[in-house]
Amino acid sequence: MRDEARALDAADPLARFRERFVLPAGVIYLDGNSLGALPKATPGRLEQVVRDEWGDGLIRSWNPRESGGAGWIDLPRMIGAKIAPLIGAAPHEVIVCDSTSVNLFKLIAAALSMRPGRKAVLSEPGNFPTDLYMIDGLARHGLAERRLAPRERLADALDADVALLLLTHTHYKTGAVLDMAALTAAAHEAGALVLWDLSHSAGAMPLDCAGCGVDLAVGCGYKYLNGGPGSPAYAFVAERHQAAIEQPLTGWFGHAAPFAFADDYAPAPGIDRLLCGTPPVLGLAALEVGVELIAEMGVDRLYAKSRKLSEFLRKCLAARGAALELASPSDVAQRGSQLSFRHEGAYAISQALIARGVIGDFRDPDILRLGFAPAYLSFADIAEVARHLAEVLAGGEWRRAAFTERALVT
Ligand SMILES: *Cc1c(COP(=O)(O)O)cnc(C)c1O
Repeated sequence: MRDEARALDAADPLARFRERFVLPAGVIYLDGNSLGALPKATPGRLEQVVRDEWGDGLIRSWNPRESGGAGWIDLPRMIGAKIAPLIGAAPHEVIVCDSTSVNLFKLIAAALSMRPGRKAVLSEPGNFPTDLYMIDGLARHGLAERRLAPRERLADALDADVALLLLTHTHYKTGAVLDMAALTAAAHEAGALVLWDLSHSAGAMPLDCAGCGVDLAVGCGYKYLNGGPGSPAYAFVAERHQAAIEQPLTGWFGHAAPFAFADDYAPAPGIDRLLCGTPPVLGLAALEVGVELIAEMGVDRLYAKSRKLSEFLRKCLAARGAALELASPSDVAQRGSQLSFRHEGAYAISQALIARGVIGDFRDPDILRLGFAPAYLSFADIAEVARHLAEVLAGGEWRRAAFTERALVT
């Protein structure tokens, strides 16, 4: 397996990008789907923003570059335009702002107001919690009604009460991918809009919001886009909806003329109306570095590599006779850039792996989740992961008391 790994690494067109990331010695990082690794260029960029743009430029830095500023005011739109091709959108259809949770709130509410007379927001049980909680929050204010149906029955649950179908493209626990084109079409056929959460997909696989006719989408900046902890998120609104969309967090940055300081709100034309308050410049600067790096590698190449990485792990585990129940789809075309395994000792196994320098994670109640950020993982890493995992299982190492005690953040 080591020879095969060496050959695969030698043939990998993305191998050279590994050195563009900070990766601690002795660590194999399988959690890039939760917090992406640090690009080597990020600290320098942040230093420049802090010392030069903030320190020297002070408030002048807000102005566009054309007028001698550092262009802070343009960052949400400019970085949105760089994310756009990664998700199959046009540059003016994506903006970077707030967190994924807040963007969900804004877009769910906006979708409800675009479908008067309909109140149901349909999703699936087991969707990422924040997606469901944001529907709940709107329901508690009497604005929405939460409806859940298992993925096989979503199409049947789409009736004339449904204003919005809200789904996550790649499931955070299992990595199973939903059919974006088919479900979007089903929602439209029922007269509903669709909102896709792309958090676990964007940056790891090509997406086609335009081709699938997607209305709305959101996603994270700190996972495969490597924007750093708490990085701002992005929101997509298809051009055809931009003139009509009304989101409820009508802060001054979404105003048509924020610096006119008028008493009454008037939404900005286009995607800018998704903005609420002052953009987080440091977070935006870090995200830009991560997004540029992913764009340079190319999502097609990243996806091709991600598929090879996960299949190679399965092959290595099988060769070592490691028996683990796969919780992800076994068909590589049906899953995102991760493999999840079901095991009663999943938490302890993840801890035993961390003690060996293999950082994956655990998802309640019994899922061991291994993410494959194709930007910086090698096939040699994968061969090592298989060895560690097989040893942890075979020797019963995971049963040690030290590995069974739960930490607060898993
Ligand atoms: C990570 C993730 C989020 C995170 O939302 P935050 O507001 O950034 O905490 C939302 N949705 C999905 C599907 C995620 O995977």
